[in-house]
Amino acid sequence: MKTAVYPGSFDPVTYGHIDIIERAAETFDKVVVLVSINSAKSALFSLDERVTMLQQAVREFGNVEIASFDGLVIEYCRQHGIHTIVRGLRAVTDFEYELQIAQTNRELSQDHVDTVFLTTDLRYSYLSSSIVKEIASYNGNIQPCVPEFVARAVYAKFGFAEVEAK
Ligand code: ADP
Repeated sequence: MKTAVYPGSFDPVTYGHIDIIERAAETFDKVVVLVSINSAKSALFSLDERVTMLQQAVREFGNVEIASFDGLVIEYCRQHGIHTIVRGLRAVTDFEYELQIAQTNRELSQDHVDTVFLTTDLRYSYLSSSIVKEIASYNGNIQPCVPEFVARAVYAKFGFAEVEAK
Protein backbone atom coordinates (compact mmCIF):
# COMPACT_ATOMS: atom_id res chain seq x y z
CA MET A 1 0.00 0.00 0.00
CA LYS A 2 1.45 3.35 -1.11
CA THR A 3 0.90 6.13 1.42
CA ALA A 4 1.93 9.76 1.00
CA VAL A 5 2.04 12.56 3.50
CA TYR A 6 1.00 16.09 2.51
CA PRO A 7 2.41 18.46 5.13
CA GLY A 8 1.63 22.13 5.58
CA SER A 9 0.28 24.85 7.83
CA PHE A 10 -3.21 24.93 6.27
CA ASP A 11 -4.00 28.19 8.08
CA PRO A 12 -6.69 27.89 6.75
CA VAL A 13 -7.24 25.18 4.13
CA THR A 14 -7.98 26.66 0.67
CA TYR A 15 -9.36 25.28 -2.60
CA GLY A 16 -5.70 25.13 -3.76
CA HIS A 17 -4.90 22.66 -0.96
CA ILE A 18 -8.09 20.67 -1.53
CA ASP A 19 -7.24 20.32 -5.21
CA ILE A 20 -3.79 18.93 -4.35
CA ILE A 21 -5.32 16.55 -1.76
CA GLU A 22 -7.89 15.28 -4.27
CA ARG A 23 -5.27 14.65 -6.95
CA ALA A 24 -2.87 13.01 -4.48
CA ALA A 25 -5.72 10.78 -3.29
CA GLU A 26 -6.17 9.59 -6.89
CA THR A 27 -2.47 8.76 -7.18
CA PHE A 28 -1.79 7.14 -3.81
CA ASP A 29 -3.66 4.45 -1.86
CA LYS A 30 -3.74 6.68 1.18
CA VAL A 31 -2.93 10.35 1.87
CA VAL A 32 -2.18 11.73 5.32
CA VAL A 33 -2.61 15.50 5.47
CA LEU A 34 -0.18 16.52 8.19
CA VAL A 35 -0.91 19.80 9.91
CA SER A 36 2.29 21.10 11.36
CA ILE A 37 3.44 24.00 13.42
CA ASN A 38 5.39 26.38 11.20
CA SER A 39 7.76 28.33 13.44
CA ALA A 40 8.26 30.93 10.68
CA LYS A 41 4.57 31.85 10.51
CA SER A 42 2.23 32.98 13.28
CA ALA A 43 -1.06 31.16 12.87
CA LEU A 44 -4.57 32.62 12.79
CA PHE A 45 -6.15 29.27 13.67
CA SER A 46 -5.11 26.85 16.41
CA LEU A 47 -3.82 23.43 15.42
CA ASP A 48 -7.14 21.87 16.50
CA GLU A 49 -9.18 24.35 14.46
CA ARG A 50 -7.07 23.67 11.36
CA VAL A 51 -7.43 19.91 11.81
CA THR A 52 -11.21 20.19 12.26
CA MET A 53 -11.62 22.35 9.14
CA LEU A 54 -9.49 19.95 7.08
CA GLN A 55 -11.52 16.97 8.32
CA GLN A 56 -14.67 18.64 7.07
CA ALA A 57 -13.03 19.66 3.78
CA VAL A 58 -11.92 16.10 2.90
CA ARG A 59 -15.01 14.26 4.17
CA GLU A 60 -15.86 13.02 0.68
CA PHE A 61 -12.43 11.45 0.07
CA GLY A 62 -12.38 7.93 1.47
CA ASN A 63 -8.59 7.49 1.57
CA VAL A 64 -7.55 10.77 3.20
CA GLU A 65 -6.68 11.13 6.87
CA ILE A 66 -5.85 14.27 8.86
CA ALA A 67 -3.11 14.25 11.49
CA SER A 68 -1.02 16.81 13.29
CA PHE A 69 2.58 16.60 14.32
CA ASP A 70 5.01 18.82 16.19
CA GLY A 71 8.32 17.77 14.71
CA LEU A 72 10.15 17.08 11.49
CA VAL A 73 8.02 15.63 8.70
CA ILE A 74 10.65 12.96 8.04
CA GLU A 75 10.37 11.88 11.68
CA TYR A 76 6.61 11.42 11.19
CA CYS A 77 7.42 9.45 8.01
CA ARG A 78 9.93 7.27 9.85
CA GLN A 79 7.46 6.52 12.67
CA HIS A 80 4.74 5.54 10.19
CA GLY A 81 6.80 3.84 7.49
CA ILE A 82 5.96 6.47 4.85
CA HIS A 83 8.41 7.22 2.02
CA THR A 84 6.67 9.94 0.02
CA ILE A 85 5.92 13.58 0.72
CA VAL A 86 3.55 15.51 -1.54
CA ARG A 87 3.87 19.25 -1.99
CA GLY A 88 2.14 21.71 -4.30
CA LEU A 89 3.92 24.09 -6.65
CA ARG A 90 2.26 27.33 -7.68
CA ALA A 91 5.00 29.33 -9.36
CA VAL A 92 8.76 29.64 -9.70
CA THR A 93 8.72 31.55 -6.43
CA ASP A 94 7.71 28.32 -4.65
CA PHE A 95 10.34 26.31 -6.46
CA GLU A 96 13.57 27.40 -4.80
CA TYR A 97 12.19 26.97 -1.28
CA GLU A 98 10.50 23.66 -2.07
CA LEU A 99 13.60 22.27 -3.78
CA GLN A 100 15.72 23.07 -0.74
CA ILE A 101 13.22 21.46 1.66
CA ALA A 102 12.87 18.38 -0.56
CA GLN A 103 16.63 17.92 -0.80
CA THR A 104 17.04 18.44 2.94
CA ASN A 105 14.37 15.84 3.67
CA ARG A 106 16.00 13.35 1.31
CA GLU A 107 19.36 13.93 2.90
CA LEU A 108 18.09 13.81 6.50
CA SER A 109 16.13 10.65 5.85
CA GLN A 110 19.16 8.98 4.24
CA ASP A 111 17.33 8.69 0.93
CA HIS A 112 14.28 7.04 2.49
CA VAL A 113 11.88 9.92 1.84
CA ASP A 114 11.29 11.49 -1.57
CA THR A 115 9.10 14.46 -2.45
CA VAL A 116 6.58 14.43 -5.27
CA PHE A 117 5.35 17.77 -6.60
CA LEU A 118 1.93 18.42 -8.02
CA THR A 119 1.56 21.62 -10.03
CA THR A 120 -1.29 23.87 -9.08
CA ASP A 121 -4.53 23.94 -10.98
CA LEU A 122 -4.30 27.26 -12.87
CA ARG A 123 -7.56 28.38 -11.25
CA TYR A 124 -5.76 28.40 -7.89
CA SER A 125 -2.25 29.49 -8.86
CA TYR A 126 -2.69 32.85 -7.13
CA LEU A 127 -4.17 31.33 -3.99
CA SER A 128 -2.48 31.10 -0.62
CA SER A 129 -3.70 31.05 2.99
CA SER A 130 -1.96 34.41 3.50
CA ILE A 131 -3.87 36.02 0.61
CA VAL A 132 -7.14 34.67 2.02
CA LYS A 133 -6.38 36.19 5.44
CA GLU A 134 -5.34 39.50 3.90
CA ILE A 135 -8.58 39.80 1.88
CA ALA A 136 -10.76 38.72 4.81
CA SER A 137 -9.12 41.21 7.19
CA TYR A 138 -10.70 43.94 5.04
CA ASN A 139 -13.99 42.04 4.79
CA GLY A 140 -13.27 41.33 1.12
CA ASN A 141 -14.74 38.41 -0.76
CA ILE A 142 -13.01 35.08 -0.06
CA GLN A 143 -15.85 32.88 -1.32
CA PRO A 144 -13.91 31.86 -4.49
CA CYS A 145 -10.91 30.81 -2.38
CA VAL A 146 -12.25 28.59 0.41
CA PRO A 147 -15.31 26.46 1.24
CA GLU A 148 -18.26 28.28 2.81
CA PHE A 149 -17.65 26.95 6.34
CA VAL A 150 -14.00 28.04 6.20
CA ALA A 151 -15.00 31.52 4.98
CA ARG A 152 -17.34 31.87 7.95
CA ALA A 153 -14.59 30.87 10.39
CA VAL A 154 -12.08 33.28 8.81
CA TYR A 155 -14.49 36.23 8.85
CA ALA A 156 -15.32 35.46 12.49
CA LYS A 157 -11.61 35.66 13.40
CA PHE A 158 -11.55 39.19 12.01
CA GLY A 159 -14.73 40.16 13.84
CA PHE A 160 -16.99 40.23 10.80
CA ALA A 161 -20.42 38.65 11.09
CA GLU A 162 -21.40 36.25 8.36
CA VAL A 163 -24.03 38.66 7.04
CA GLU A 164 -21.45 41.39 6.59
CA ALA A 165 -19.20 39.15 4.53
CA LYS A 166 -19.40 40.02 0.87
P1 ADP B 1 3.63 25.67 4.41
O1 ADP B 1 3.55 26.68 5.51
O2 ADP B 1 4.31 24.40 4.79
O3 ADP B 1 4.11 26.22 3.07
P2 ADP B 1 0.96 25.81 3.35
O4 ADP B 1 -0.29 25.43 4.06
O5 ADP B 1 1.14 27.27 3.02
O6 ADP B 1 2.13 25.23 4.22
O7 ADP B 1 1.09 24.97 2.01
C1 ADP B 1 1.15 23.57 2.02
C2 ADP B 1 1.49 23.08 0.64
O8 ADP B 1 0.42 23.39 -0.25
C3 ADP B 1 2.73 23.69 0.00
O9 ADP B 1 3.38 22.69 -0.76
C4 ADP B 1 2.18 24.76 -0.91
O10 ADP B 1 3.05 25.03 -1.99
C5 ADP B 1 0.91 24.07 -1.37
N1 ADP B 1 -0.09 25.03 -1.83
C6 ADP B 1 -0.59 26.08 -1.15
N2 ADP B 1 -1.49 26.76 -1.91
C7 ADP B 1 -1.56 26.11 -3.10
C8 ADP B 1 -2.27 26.32 -4.32
N3 ADP B 1 -3.10 27.37 -4.47
N4 ADP B 1 -2.08 25.46 -5.34
C9 ADP B 1 -1.21 24.42 -5.19
N5 ADP B 1 -0.50 24.16 -4.08
C10 ADP B 1 -0.66 25.00 -3.04
